[in-house]
Amino acid sequence: MSKVNPIQAIKANIQCQCGTVKGSIDSPSALRFVCYSKDCRGYYNALNALAKNAGKPEAAALDPFGGCDFTQVYPCEITIREGQDQLEKRLIRKNSPIPRTYAKCCFTPLFSTGGTGAALLNSNLLSAWDQHCEVKYRIIGRHALKGDGSIPKPSMSWSVPFGWFFAMPKRCQPDKAQPSPVEVKDIKELKLLEGFVEGK
Ligand SMILES: [Zn+2]
Ligand SMILES: [Zn+2]
Repeated sequence: MSKVNPIQAIKANIQCQCGTVKGSIDSPSALRFVCYSKDCRGYYNALNALAKNAGKPEAAALDPFGGCDFTQVYPCEITIREGQDQLEKRLIRKNSPIPRTYAKCCFTPLFSTGGTGAALLNSNLLSAWDQHCEVKYRIIGRHALKGDGSIPKPSMSWSVPFGWFFAMPKRCQPDKAQPSPVEVKDIKELKLLEGFVEGK
C-alpha cells in the first residue's frame, strides 16, 4: 500500500503574490497532485480575470495543459500569520461542498477545504517544492488541454488512477480539520465567485 500512498514532509513559508498574506505550512505527509478538471481551471481563470480587471498581474498559474498543481495537506497544518482580513472564501457554484479561499489583495488562490478534513494547498505557494517533491497523481486528464506541443504531455488519468481509491480514503481525516485557517460556519452562506465558468 505504501507504493500508492507516497508522502513527503514539508515545512515552508507561504505567501500570496503581493506578500500581504503570509503564513506557513508544516506537514509530515504532504501529497502533490495535478487536477485538470474544468472546475479547477475555471476557478483559476476567474481569479486571473478579476486580477486583470483590478489592473494586477495574474496570480493563478496553470500548468501547460491547464492543470492546477495542488499539495494535499490538512487544515490544521496551515497557519496564516498576516493578512487574515484578505482571505476570501467562495464557492464556484451553488451546492458545491468545497469552500475555496483566495487572497483578495492580489487574487492568489491559496487553498480549499472541505468536510473530509483534507485541504488542497496551491503548490505554487511552496517555493522549490518542484525540486524535491514529485507529482504523484495527474487526475481528470479527460479535461486537460492539448498544450502547444513545445513539451511532451505527461501521462495522466482520464478520471483518477486506481491507486487513488486506496490512498485517498485514508487521507480524509476530519480530526485534522481544526484548527482551520478559515472558519466556515454555514457553507450555504458563502458567496459564489464572480465570473466563474467551467474552463474549456
Ligand atoms: Zn496578496
Ligand atoms: Zn479539479
